[in-house]
Amino acid sequence: MKLSWQMMLPLCLSVYLSHSTITFAAGSPSFSSAEHVAIGNNINLYFDSDDPGHMATPLHMPNGLNLTYGDIVSLGDFYELVNQPISQGQSEAERRSRFLAAFSSFALNPNAPTETTQILNVIYNEQKLLDDGIKRGEKPEDIYKSIGHENDRQFNCITGGGCSPSTWWLEPGRYLNLANMDYDHFGEHAWISYSTGHQLALEQAVVAHQTGDLKKLEMAYAMNAFACHFLTDRFSAGHIRTPRVELSEQITPGTVGSLLSSYMHGEENVNGLHVHNLNGDKWIAYGDKSYFSPQTSYHRNMIIATMQNSADQIFAAYQQGTTQVNDNVKDFIPLPDETGNAANLDISPLFYWDDTTKKLMRRSDMQNLNDRHWTDNWWGWSTLLELQKERGLSDEAQATLVLSSLRDQALQAGLITNKDFIAYIRKNQQH
Ligand SMILES: [Zn+2]
Repeated sequence: MKLSWQMMLPLCLSVYLSHSTITFAAGSPSFSSAEHVAIGNNINLYFDSDDPGHMATPLHMPNGLNLTYGDIVSLGDFYELVNQPISQGQSEAERRSRFLAAFSSFALNPNAPTETTQILNVIYNEQKLLDDGIKRGEKPEDIYKSIGHENDRQFNCITGGGCSPSTWWLEPGRYLNLANMDYDHFGEHAWISYSTGHQLALEQAVVAHQTGDLKKLEMAYAMNAFACHFLTDRFSAGHIRTPRVELSEQITPGTVGSLLSSYMHGEENVNGLHVHNLNGDKWIAYGDKSYFSPQTSYHRNMIIATMQNSADQIFAAYQQGTTQVNDNVKDFIPLPDETGNAANLDISPLFYWDDTTKKLMRRSDMQNLNDRHWTDNWWGWSTLLELQKERGLSDEAQATLVLSSLRDQALQAGLITNKDFIAYIRKNQQH
């Protein structure tokens, strides 16, 4: 897909107009679940050479669940091993075993169907609210605002965590615990997670070829759909440049680094990024919760083209009986036009990892999105205080602090402002 810069001009304008506002959108690990479902259900699956292709066809899991390709793409935010991101596995064998364990936890586990169905019902409801609102002429971003964190609360409740509307953040279920270590959903880590699962799916397709068993081909597609959760996240503007893992690893304690990464995630999501890929395409990548917005259609098509290419390789491996298929998904991946300390087209990165000096750099003037100065002389805690003062701190971020060893320090510094959280702490101190 090629698009000239002249054709993209209206897109550029709309992005630049939004540069004047800073919105802090923390607490959203990736595309919304309904976005993931919509992306996946646009992919055609083939089962024989004359097949015209099927979208949103049910794939049959061994535990009895029937899931569409899109359903499975969305499940990447719900089914992983807590504190064991796929991309952080020390060896390929460990990464493969983590991917398979995550996949099995909803596809094979006999106890999964009840929970998975509950999760999907919340997602379908989100989709319905979006569809109905868009039909009435409402903007997707306004519909998301009205949904607020209600879906997150339900996801947390369903996955074993707190359900109370005011304090659910303080009792993390698997959903929140996974969101707190969402490394697999960012940058190179998303690519590693995808590649690990895609390779396993190709191998499964070869088994389907050898046995002639179409159910095994369905499983190969299902595994690929799960891998593609991370591939779609790799396209989201806030996930492309944010040094998510470096912030957690270099800042002490890592909790503070994680919270800082969500500020950068929010900035880049809102403002979009000029990107290109090895195929020679150039476009603007948009962030989470913008998939259904009209101005993002080119970006949307790029994601779908990439996902279709990935699924087609599964079919090719099935037909040819080999994993050695023409694998060129990497050529579709958006690379930022500007990295490190380059900042002419896009906002200046709030943080970047300098690979030469092995230092984590921070924008000097954090409130000026176009400040082109960075410093290595900064501290995580004071940076957090400054950002919180200017932009606030989300409930999820405050809850993370309440649950960490930084709780008292955060209370003293005025970082915990949620009255329900403060009351919850007092109540628990009395017991
Ligand atoms: Zn994700």
